[in-house]
Amino acid sequence: MYLVKTPWILKKLYPNLIWNARRDARSIFLTFDDGPIPIVTPFVLNTLKKHNAKATFFCIGDNVSKHPDIFNDLKKDGNAIGNHTYNHLRGWKTDNETYLQNFLQADKLLDTPLFRPPYGRIKRQQIKLLTNARPDLKIYMWDVLSGDFDMSLTPQECLKNVLKHTEPGSVIVFHDSIKAFTRLEYVLPRALEAWSKEGYTFEIL
Ligand SMILES: [Zn+2]
Repeated sequence: MYLVKTPWILKKLYPNLIWNARRDARSIFLTFDDGPIPIVTPFVLNTLKKHNAKATFFCIGDNVSKHPDIFNDLKKDGNAIGNHTYNHLRGWKTDNETYLQNFLQADKLLDTPLFRPPYGRIKRQQIKLLTNARPDLKIYMWDVLSGDFDMSLTPQECLKNVLKHTEPGSVIVFHDSIKAFTRLEYVLPRALEAWSKEGYTFEIL
C-alpha cells in the first residue's frame, strides 16, 4: 500500500525532512532511486538529454562500486547525486549503528549532502545520528510517488498518476531499477513531453 501523493499530515509530522520545493516557480524535480545499473540508467540519461532535463539520482553505494562507469556518466551530464545507503537498508528494521555505518560507507563513495532513506522509512534516532555525522545533510522525501515499481500497475495508469499529481515544486520519485523498467520506459519520455509542453523546467535538488 502506498499513496501517489504525500498527504500533508505526514509532512507536518516530519518537518525536518524535505517533501517538496517552492510552489511559486514552474520547476519540478525528478529523482531516480536505486541505481546506477546497466540498461535502465543509460536509458534514463538518454531520455533526460533529449528533453534538456537534469535529475537527482539517489544511488545505492553497492551499485556505484559495481558500475563506476555509469556513475561517472551520470555526473558528467550535470545531474545531482544523493545517498540511498550502501545496501538499501530498511530503517525501521535496522539497528541504528548498522544504519549509520551503511550510510557512511555510501557517503565515502558518493560524498553528497543529499540523502533519501530507502522505502522512505527512517527512525527519528537515525535522522539524528546521520545529521550528527554529516551536519550539511538534507533528507529528501517526495511529493509524488510514481508507483513505477508496482507490477500491478499498467504503464498507462502509472503515467496518468504521475501527470495528475505533479504541480510546481513537486519532487517526483522514479526508480532506475529492473523492476520498474516496464513502466519507466513508457512513462518517462511521455511525461517529459507533457511537462515540457506545460512549460515546466527540470531542476536538480
Ligand atoms: Zn530505494
